[in-house]
Amino acid sequence: MLTLEGLQAAFDTGAIDTVVVAAVDMQGRLMGKRFHAAHFLDHGWQETHCCDYLLTVDMEMTPVPGYAAAGWDKGYGDYLVKPDLATLRPLPWLPGTALVLADLMDPATHADIAQSPRAILKRQIARARALGFQPMMATELEFFVFETPYAALRDRGPTGLVPISGYNEDYHIFQTTKEEPLMRALRNGLYGAGIPVENTKGEAEAGQAEINIRYAEALTCADHHAITKTAAKEIAHAQGQSVTFMAKYATDRAGSSAHVHQSLWTLDGRPAFRDPDAPLGMSGVMRHFLAGQLAHAADITLFLAPYVNSYKRFCPGLFAPTKAVWSVDNRTAGFRVCGAGTGAVRVECRIGGADLNPYTALAALLAAGLDGIERRLPLGPAQTGDAYAAQGVPEIPATLREAAGIADASDWLRGALGDDVVDHYVHAARWEIAEADRAVTDWDLKRGLERA
Ligand code: ADP
Repeated sequence: MLTLEGLQAAFDTGAIDTVVVAAVDMQGRLMGKRFHAAHFLDHGWQETHCCDYLLTVDMEMTPVPGYAAAGWDKGYGDYLVKPDLATLRPLPWLPGTALVLADLMDPATHADIAQSPRAILKRQIARARALGFQPMMATELEFFVFETPYAALRDRGPTGLVPISGYNEDYHIFQTTKEEPLMRALRNGLYGAGIPVENTKGEAEAGQAEINIRYAEALTCADHHAITKTAAKEIAHAQGQSVTFMAKYATDRAGSSAHVHQSLWTLDGRPAFRDPDAPLGMSGVMRHFLAGQLAHAADITLFLAPYVNSYKRFCPGLFAPTKAVWSVDNRTAGFRVCGAGTGAVRVECRIGGADLNPYTALAALLAAGLDGIERRLPLGPAQTGDAYAAQGVPEIPATLREAAGIADASDWLRGALGDDVVDHYVHAARWEIAEADRAVTDWDLKRGLERA
């Protein structure tokens, strides 16, 4: 990591000349400006500004009407973009470049913008800390690697995609050797950017990879996740390849997940999920936390699966869960207890896809778990066997339409995240649904062109 003094020294030697200042948008993307390091060191480190439409655009950057936060009716003014200097770091894969993440604030009051993903997560972390807990999290990010460069995809369309490997590469060393120029650069680049990479591995589909980063305080975990996605795209682009974090890029291929590992620690650094004398080594706090996430799994699915495409990942037999049940080390359930009986005992939520926004996803999970702790919700028995086949257990919402409706109607979610946040993200979902509803797809054409 870099301090301002360290940045100054790196600028003086010519090692760094550019500073990316980036906030995080609703899609979890880094959005900002590139500063000349001299100007950043002079003024830019204090604040900059961006158009407030950044939290109201869809994936295509269309300014979507109907938001309370910003719109044509309000004239699309500015947000204050406040660098969080604790996130200042070199980006070794971009020549002479450093990055700092930033918070979006009201320029007049300097209050956090409620709908900003980083602010949403910070509020839930503050809630956890007020209860005496430090949330620690890790996201296991899966993605596909293609030999095809992004530019070729634009020319030829996504039908030209060539996965980097030809068959299921789960744990496969020879297959993953084929993607090693990208993955080695990614591991070493992130490490040089102060992101503690544990490992990369092949995943259970041709061209599918996973990266594991060591668990960290929840905000840091989300920062790591957002930077990792950008890094993977940037490095792939530089090598003439491409990657995708879509939840499901092809009908007949497995989807990509972002499983979230979670534990709470006391503020003096002891694992609050651990009770060596309790069954599975799970403390009462952990049982309540997990019970809260099960109780609210449907309310928060919008934040774990935010697009129409996200729901195409949920199918039996492909390791993406369909049931909101918990299990002990069983990959067919929505929630898996890992590390039972050890100091690393934790909850893995398996619902989220690789397309989730890590900030809002972690915030929603945390909100649900904390509610379980506050209300001392009891945890029922673990699911055993094949959870896909389990009858009479809660289902994960099957479509974005269903998830958005449940979130919209959830008094609990509104209380936990705030009406302004829930209204904003439900509106985003409804726009996405309307756009998908009016799209004529390849599937429509193949199915109907001749036969309809
Ligand atoms: P798996 O066998 O599912 O791949 P790993 O042992 O690789 O599990 O761990 C998965 C993730 O869980 C890693 O990113 C790791 O840093 C994280 N993790 C380990 N211990 C904890 C913990 N106590 N709280 C949260 N995450 C943790």
